[in-house]
Amino acid sequence: MARVFNFGAGPAMLPEPVMRQAADELLDWHGTGMSVMEMSHRDKAYIAVYAGAEADLRELLAIPRNYKILFLQGGGAGQFSLVPMNLLRGKSGADYVETGYWSQKAIAEARRYCNVNVAASTKDTKFTRTPKRDGFHFDPGAAYVHITSNETIEGVEWHWVPDTGGVPLVTDASSHILSRPLDVSRFGLIYAGAQKNIGPSGLTVVIVRDDLMGHAMPTTPSVLDYKVQADADSMQNTPPTFSLYVSGLVFKWLKQLGGLKKMEEINIAKAKVIYDYLDQTEFYHAPIVKEDRSRMNVQFRLRNDKLDAEFLKQAENNGLSQLKGHRAIGGMRASIYNAMPIEGVQALVGFMREFERKHG
Ligand code: PMP
Repeated sequence: MARVFNFGAGPAMLPEPVMRQAADELLDWHGTGMSVMEMSHRDKAYIAVYAGAEADLRELLAIPRNYKILFLQGGGAGQFSLVPMNLLRGKSGADYVETGYWSQKAIAEARRYCNVNVAASTKDTKFTRTPKRDGFHFDPGAAYVHITSNETIEGVEWHWVPDTGGVPLVTDASSHILSRPLDVSRFGLIYAGAQKNIGPSGLTVVIVRDDLMGHAMPTTPSVLDYKVQADADSMQNTPPTFSLYVSGLVFKWLKQLGGLKKMEEINIAKAKVIYDYLDQTEFYHAPIVKEDRSRMNVQFRLRNDKLDAEFLKQAENNGLSQLKGHRAIGGMRASIYNAMPIEGVQALVGFMREFERKHG
């Protein structure tokens, strides 16, 4: 079996031990004679899987008791609508921070529900940084402030949390959740599609403070109402059972590794391997300002973009897969989520060095 290093932005690599365990248990989960995939979500055995995943995630992120964890469907993009539907709480507007492609998508969707005040934007820098700390124009009457704490496409990561006064802060953490510890108490709501650092696609995790639930717009479908789902332990309808089970295995893998502090050390080391290389070459170029570079999505370009196709072809031949940047901005992107081993990043840099030697 030849597994490649998959640098795709998501669905992305999963830890190999997790997939081996899922494969071992696929036909017969713990002597039940059936797969988790085939189990009723009301079954005692499945409830144990669910409760274990919930408890492990709570422990990993040290989620305070006054926050609920919801396991939903609809992806990160689904939350672009669910957040305003649930959190406007009778107010007419919300603050959004524009830092790249995904925050722009969130803004466009929110505009269908409310007045959006763009409290800060980094568009004039071509989305190469987070906003200046004193550069926000918050609306004091806003229902919440929304940020995208890791812009997956541009490769910009907030390594800091803005102060929004008493206004609840919401973050789309889809592409860096669980990559490092997070002070959940600084946020009113955190959401993430699973398919990068959590598990297979199909599952969306929402961590929401209790007092923000229960005020959804009257037309909100019940299955999309945070309070209804919280009261039903995310089982108002059938949850994505298999994705949640695999995610539970990922949480156990993270705990065994030593938790998020340890994961962060590993991620810092991995990101350093590639950024250090990018910083000393003229052949490639990393456009994001140093202090805002993502540890998860490394954006880089070949100075001569005529070599892009050749670069991608040779990379693929070397077992380095999915390095092509998003169609919206081009260039290259190496997504190095939790499950990417440091050997993968070293192999990439080795290849880049060799490609530079041949074509530089
Ligand atoms: N937000 C961010 C930051 C993302 O990276 C993505 C997907 N790459 C989305 C939202 C959309 O997620 P989904 O496809 O799960 O709806």
